[in-house]
Amino acid sequence: MIPGRLLPAHRVVAVSRWQAAFRMAFKDPERAKAYQRRWQVEHRASKNASTQRWRDANPETTRAQNNLYNMAHREQRRAYSRTYAAEHLEQVQSKGRVYRETHRVELRAAAKAYAAKHTEQLRISRRVYDKAHPEIIRARRHAFAKAHPENRRAKDGRRRARKNGTIATLTAAQWKAILTAYKGRCAYCGVKPKKITQDHVVPLSRGGAHTAENVVPACISCNLHKGDRQPPTLPAVRLLL
Ligand SMILES: [Zn+2]
Repeated sequence: MIPGRLLPAHRVVAVSRWQAAFRMAFKDPERAKAYQRRWQVEHRASKNASTQRWRDANPETTRAQNNLYNMAHREQRRAYSRTYAAEHLEQVQSKGRVYRETHRVELRAAAKAYAAKHTEQLRISRRVYDKAHPEIIRARRHAFAKAHPENRRAKDGRRRARKNGTIATLTAAQWKAILTAYKGRCAYCGVKPKKITQDHVVPLSRGGAHTAENVVPACISCNLHKGDRQPPTLPAVRLLL
């Protein structure tokens, strides 16, 4: 419980009425105060218990009072939280871990919503982070490239095609989708070879583009046999795409 929290309304009234009578009985106000203080200390446990009972019975009023208190003592509360966290580091950390593990879905959704709302902010902070940690970024990029060699291959393919002045947009993801559509089979003979190659239906030498529309999988034998001749019709399987 936060020290100095407001007492429930009924208690404030009851105590002050009791105080008035009490002070009348004691002629000396200083003695009355001292007695009262002693009484409060001696009966702290039962007083706290009774306050808690009242709070449990009046959750809405309690919540409203807490909100009022928190709003009026924002700085104090923040300082208290900080001190508490520093003194109970282990507890706070393990509590956070448990929370994150049990609320994975909600947290991910919240992070997504936050990212969608703060795109510009996040871009800036990412740029700042990247600039401050070049070696981490380099290592991460290296690991990603190593895990996705197909991206590199696709990039090389685009660069080769562009060199000849052809339109080159085929990405690794598109090539993967094309392979899936053909179930890994050669577009010309239908065989599923060990090594599949990219064949340009309209050859690059004849102005064909390095695009998803002009690339089909072909076995090495069909690819070599076709050479740079343009087939009279598109490969049969391709029409199913
Ligand atoms: Zn073939």
